[in-house]
Amino acid sequence: MMMLFAFSTLACLLMAHVASANDEHSAHEHHAHVHGLVQLTIAIENDSLLINLLAPANSFVGFEHKAETKQEIASVKRLQSILNEVSNVITLAPSSCNLSDKTLDIDALLPTRIESKHQAHAEISAEYQLDCQQLAEATSIRIVLFEHFPTIEKIEASWLNNNKQGATNLTRKKNTLFWQ
Ligand SMILES: [Zn+2]
Repeated sequence: MMMLFAFSTLACLLMAHVASANDEHSAHEHHAHVHGLVQLTIAIENDSLLINLLAPANSFVGFEHKAETKQEIASVKRLQSILNEVSNVITLAPSSCNLSDKTLDIDALLPTRIESKHQAHAEISAEYQLDCQQLAEATSIRIVLFEHFPTIEKIEASWLNNNKQGATNLTRKKNTLFWQ
């Protein structure tokens, strides 16, 4: 029970972090909508790993309206199929993980989107919850997203576990996040 409680506390912290990034009023203070940038948050608790991605849609597909042309529709399908597999987002050795939950929000790009005059920009998000083995032995995560999306220039990564938290900027050349 203690472990469950601790994880849910961590998950709440992570939610609060992401919620503040989504809040328009705090957007200018905490979180800039910068094309080419992705925000990645990782929470580690015992053998559970929570991964959250938040980014301007432009960082992934190069546009922020609902997909209309054949090319745009194909880009969105590709985005969806890549983000559906957490192995396209991160790799984690020597630990092995199973996906236990996933939420993908790319609604802003879907043909069903109802366009608003005031919404010039749009964001997408993805969250993955994983149950891992030997997570304590893992000290880093390699971000493989860069390999799938040349449009991503920088990833602002932050992480937290029971003891510590930290943040670092990742690039194509420096694509590994260390937390110990
Ligand atoms: Zn934008």
